Amino acid sequence: MRVNIDEEACVGAGQCVLAAAEVFDQRDEDGVVVLLQEEPPAELGEAVREAAVLCPAMAIHVQD
Ligand code: SF4
Repeated sequence: MRVNIDEEACVGAGQCVLAAAEVFDQRDEDGVVVLLQEEPPAELGEAVREAAVLCPAMAIHVQD
């Protein structure tokens, strides 16, 4: 699994961090998402996909 984020689209809602804190964080200054793992392990796959679905800005893209 490979994760890409669109920082321009991100509105800092933080849903991704709630869903998968091992993979996503937010910048202190403006809340924009920070990707902690570009290629998360398989056991985090479900949480990462949930984060992508929950993201109101559709800023998270997942490739298998
Ligand atoms: S859920 Fe989407 S909009 Fe919110 S911080 Fe994460 S990437 Fe950004």
